[in-house]
Amino acid sequence: MADALEQFRELQNIVKGPRCAFQSLDLSEADIQALNEALASASITSKTIQKWLEARKQVWVYYNIARHRRGDCRCANV
Ligand SMILES: [Zn+2]
Repeated sequence: MADALEQFRELQNIVKGPRCAFQSLDLSEADIQALNEALASASITSKTIQKWLEARKQVWVYYNIARHRRGDCRCANV
């Protein structure tokens, strides 16, 4: 039976998003965990996350963070 979303899912498997800095962040496990919580929290802005990362000498620009949060990067399409 045809699923209404089947074509979208197939397409999504083909369209890999752009590379994402999330993959190359050099953070401790505790920081990664905190970061993931922040990413999942709608009340914390991407700009704030960029600043938090800057304090840890990591570069991830807010609009790329926003893209990651939307699931439009390669992380979501592996
Ligand atoms: Zn990503």
